[in-house]
Amino acid sequence: MRYRQLGRTGLQVSEMGFGAIPIIRLSFEEAERVLRRALDRGVTLFDTAHLYVDSEEKIGRAFEGLRDRIVLATKTMKRDKQGAQEDLELSLRRLRTDYLDLYQFHMVNQEADIQAITGPGGALEAAVRAKEAGRIRHLGFTSHSLEMAIKLVKTELFSTVQFPFNFIEAEATAELHPLAWELKLGVLAMKPFCGGLVEDARVAFAYLRRFPAVIPLAGWDSVERVDEVVDLYEQPLEVTPEDEAAMARYRTELGDLFCRRCEYCQPCPHGVMVTPAMLYGIVAHRMGPAKAAAFAAKAMESVRLCEECGECAERCPYHLPIPETLKKHLAMYEEHLGK
Ligand code: SF4
Ligand code: SF4
Repeated sequence: MRYRQLGRTGLQVSEMGFGAIPIIRLSFEEAERVLRRALDRGVTLFDTAHLYVDSEEKIGRAFEGLRDRIVLATKTMKRDKQGAQEDLELSLRRLRTDYLDLYQFHMVNQEADIQAITGPGGALEAAVRAKEAGRIRHLGFTSHSLEMAIKLVKTELFSTVQFPFNFIEAEATAELHPLAWELKLGVLAMKPFCGGLVEDARVAFAYLRRFPAVIPLAGWDSVERVDEVVDLYEQPLEVTPEDEAAMARYRTELGDLFCRRCEYCQPCPHGVMVTPAMLYGIVAHRMGPAKAAAFAAKAMESVRLCEECGECAERCPYHLPIPETLKKHLAMYEEHLGK
């Protein structure tokens, strides 16, 4: 494992980090084994979120007494000062630590999010105060909207940007990444396995190795999977013609049906939470049926309000068949409810 400086934070982190969504579906004991294996193999950056069910608690338990060996990042969805303050306190307790290396505003996808976070009484005020008190070392954000991410980078309020980046979603290379380098932000890549849609680690990571300054956050749910990916990183990893062919196949198979979480389809006039409901198939794949049904209950129940007016589909830049997909996902959710 090699180590890199995370932008202007001054933090040294492993060249790949651990993205902690997949440990949601593991027991505490299994999660501890996977997390400790990653640390033993040299991974030092662990990224979770308040939203990820019990993932913070699992990390807190796994690394009790090892705090100084890891770089810890989490996130809040709260946009107001009080909410962010409460989230932070709870995250610190769950993670069994008194400081976070990186605190990120989660899924800042719309202009209204930016206004709420940075405006008077916004979440940024709570984060800045916590930073001054030494409870947060650095601030960052995550987004699925290229436009919002570029805007946030330009504010120079943040030290890191976390954005989807993989061989299917490579839009960030044109403007976002160069801008982040210029302003010395650390760049974290979410969804290196294309949000769980690509199983082939060799293909996914051979592509990412072409961008050594980008730190992918790999989601692992087994010791074997940790070893597989870390082993790949310990040898020269070049994209072969076979890899290129596999990428082209994946792009053809997934390209048109892959929800990019950009949220241009929202809001729905009938109150359907379109984006999380569009992602239900991936969530179920990653969390397992029972946990996914509980996790996404609010979004999936809202699908019952869909009147198939088609407004969302008209706004989707990828022309996804949204009403049809929502119907399919609702049927899947109902089946999962019984499990
Ligand atoms: S098709 Fe359904 S989800 Fe889409 S905007 Fe219309 S009611 Fe909302
Ligand atoms: S359905 Fe389309 S518009 Fe909505 S989040 Fe997904 S990709 Fe974006």
